[in-house]
Amino acid sequence: MAGLPYYAALMQASQNLLPGSCSLCRGSLTRFDNALCQYCIAELPRLTTSCQRCAVPLASNLICAACQLTAPVFRRCIAAFRYQPPISSIIVRLKSDPYVAELQQLSAVLAERITVTYREAQQVIPQVVIPLPLHWLKMTRRGFNQSHILCQLLSKHFSRQHNTALNLRTDICRRIAQGQAQHLLSAKQRLSGIKNAFIAEQPVNVSLKGLSVAVVDDVVTTGATANSVAAALLRAGVKDVDIWCLARTSWNNSAG
Ligand SMILES: [Zn+2]
Ligand SMILES: [Zn+2]
Repeated sequence: MAGLPYYAALMQASQNLLPGSCSLCRGSLTRFDNALCQYCIAELPRLTTSCQRCAVPLASNLICAACQLTAPVFRRCIAAFRYQPPISSIIVRLKSDPYVAELQQLSAVLAERITVTYREAQQVIPQVVIPLPLHWLKMTRRGFNQSHILCQLLSKHFSRQHNTALNLRTDICRRIAQGQAQHLLSAKQRLSGIKNAFIAEQPVNVSLKGLSVAVVDDVVTTGATANSVAAALLRAGVKDVDIWCLARTSWNNSAG
């Protein structure tokens, strides 16, 4: 019995030193994985074909009917995943827990997707990135902005793997209207409620004139919020606004 505390301490130490198990399949992790094993990472619902403007999932890379009817004011939306399990449940957790372990690996997939998209379009990756702002009241209640955490992880990936430094800014854009619970509203109500929800202002040491910026969000649902924040930035003099998000919903589901 005397050896038991020693054994428990040894087990604790070994658990700290050895990699844990995958949060989805409980399989063993390598020391390079944070939360998901390589098998589960490969099986995640990646968004392979989508609308070239709003990233809504499509059978091929075309422009969707909604964007053909009324083009969004943002230049393009880039999403890494479809909003469906297990991505949807990870994103729901992210709204209450800023330390969601899977986020680092998911943001690496998004960073790769962003790189490939701009390379194929032969365009420069926007260097200024803005986390989608929360209204101050929501920020006070929640205590953190999940899009800001995603931005920080993207910055880390870009500087480590692509030797590119992103300029993460929270002083350019503010949310001035509080959004209601989106799942309680019809699509029409969402669009009208979000229209003037953001305001963009010229910061001290960056000129917005002619600038390309990326707004980062965890999930894009109707594209109405993305369109509203893009409109505010364009009014302030920005040239192009792109939206980068972890996941995009289909027309027939909603992120709530
Ligand atoms: Zn796994
Ligand atoms: Zn579209």
